[in-house]
Amino acid sequence: MTGRGVVIVGASVGGTRVAAALREAGYAGALTLVDPDPDAPYDRPPLSKQILAGDWDAARASLGDPEEWGATRYVAAAAGLDPAARLLRLDDGTRLGYDRLVLACGAAPRLLPGMPLGGVHVLRTLADCHGLRADLDRIGDGRLVVVGGGFIGAEVASTARARGIDVTVVEAQPAPLSGLLGEDVAAELSLLHRDNGVRLLCGTSVAGLVGGVSVTGVTLTDGTTLPADAVVVGIGVRPATGWLADSGILLDTDGGVLCDEYCAADADHTVYAVGDVARCHDPLLGRHVRVEHWTNAVEQAAVVARAIAGPDPEPYRHEFFVWSDQYGGKITLLGRPGPGDETDVVRAGGPRRRFAVAYRRGARLTAVLTVNWPKALVVARRSMATRGDADDVVGSWKNL
Ligand SMILES: Cc1cc2nc3c(=O)[nH]c(=O)nc-3n(C[C@H](O)[C@H](O)[C@H](O)COP(=O)(O)OP(=O)(O)OC[C@H]3O[C@@H](n4cnc5c(N)ncnc54)[C@H](O)[C@@H]3O)c2cc1C
Repeated sequence: MTGRGVVIVGASVGGTRVAAALREAGYAGALTLVDPDPDAPYDRPPLSKQILAGDWDAARASLGDPEEWGATRYVAAAAGLDPAARLLRLDDGTRLGYDRLVLACGAAPRLLPGMPLGGVHVLRTLADCHGLRADLDRIGDGRLVVVGGGFIGAEVASTARARGIDVTVVEAQPAPLSGLLGEDVAAELSLLHRDNGVRLLCGTSVAGLVGGVSVTGVTLTDGTTLPADAVVVGIGVRPATGWLADSGILLDTDGGVLCDEYCAADADHTVYAVGDVARCHDPLLGRHVRVEHWTNAVEQAAVVARAIAGPDPEPYRHEFFVWSDQYGGKITLLGRPGPGDETDVVRAGGPRRRFAVAYRRGARLTAVLTVNWPKALVVARRSMATRGDADDVVGSWKNL
C-alpha cells in the first residue's frame, strides 16, 4: 500500500464493521470513513422498533465512535470516483486518494409520486425515525396508512398499533412477503396483523396521495380513498450508487455494485462493496445476489477485511438470515425459499400465534420460517448447518 490507506464510503453497519475488523486483523494504515449523515454511525433495526416506540434513546443504536478505530471521519457524500487514479471526490470538494476503497453506501427508499408531502414518511435514517415519531405523537389515536407490508412496513404497523393508532396496511401482493415466502405461508403470517387489529388490504396499490400541504388520504387503484392523518411508505429501496454512474464500476440494472465472491468490484481487487449496495457472486448458488439484511452486511464486512488485511482471503458464503420483531414477538427466516419448494407447517400451542415452516426440496431442508418460536429456530439452525433432513427437523419440532 502507498500510505493512502483504506477509504470506506458509508458509516453504517457494513462500513463500521469493515473498519473494526481491519484493526482487529492488525491493519495499521490510514482509515477514512465518509458519510453525509451527521448522526452516523448508528444501527437501523431499532429505528422501526425500540426507538420508534420511544423505548430507547438514539445513543443505544450507536455503532461506536470512528476514533475507536483510529479513523478519520468526513461528514460529506462521495460524489465521484476515478478508479484509474484511485481518487474519490466528495461533494464538499475534498479529494481523497486510496489504496483500497470499500463501498458501503447502502440503499435509499423508493418514493411514491407526490412526495415530498407533509405527513408522508419513509424510514431509513435516524432523522426519519424522529420525524415519524413526532408525527405519531401528533396524530394521537388517528389514522396511519402504511404503504407496503414488507418487514419495515409490518414493524411500523406493529409499533404504531401498540401506541393505539388506527393502522391500515396496503400491500400490492396477494399477501405481504408472498414473493419471498410463497402465498400460503405469507397468508398465514399476515394473520398476525389481523390478530392485532391492523387492517390489511392486499392485491391493491396506491394510485396517489391526497392532500395540499399535508396528506389527508391515499387513493388506491380500485378507486377507494383511505383517509389518513399520516402515511409511511415502505415500498423498497434502491442502491445509493447514482454517484458511481460514470465511474466504470459495474452496476446491475437496479444500481447494485457487481462483485466477485470476495466482494471485489474490480479485477485487481482495489474496490470492494458490502451490504445492501453489493451484488456479490455466491459460489454456492452459482449467481450474483444482493441482500438487504443486517447479517449479510456483517458477513460481507468480515470477508472484505480479510481480503484487505489477511491472513488469506476467504470467499463469501452467504447464510441468508433475517429477523423481524412484530407485535411483541419475533419472526425469523433462515435460508431462502425457492420456487417449487414444498412446505410443512408445524403449529405450537399457547395463546399467541406460534408456528414454524420447513421449506423442502425432496428430503432436503432449504429454508425455515419461525414465528414466535425460538426453540424451533435453534433446532433448524443445527440441522441446516449439517445439511439436514427436512423430516428430522419437522419431527423434532413436533416433540418440542
Ligand atoms: C428501519 C429499518 C429496520 C430494519 N430492521 C432490520 C431487521 O430487523 N433485521 C434485518 O436483518 N435487517 C433490518 N434492516 C436492514 C438493515 O438495517 C440493512 O440491511 C443494513 O443497515 C445495511 O447496512 P449497510 O451498511 O449496507 O447500508 P446502510 O445501513 O444503508 O448504510 C449506508 C450508509 O451510507 C451512507 N451513504 C449513502 N450514500 C453515500 C455517499 N454517496 N457517500 C457517503 N456515504 C453515503 C448513508 O448515509 C448510510 O449511513 C432494517 C433497515 C431499516 C431501515
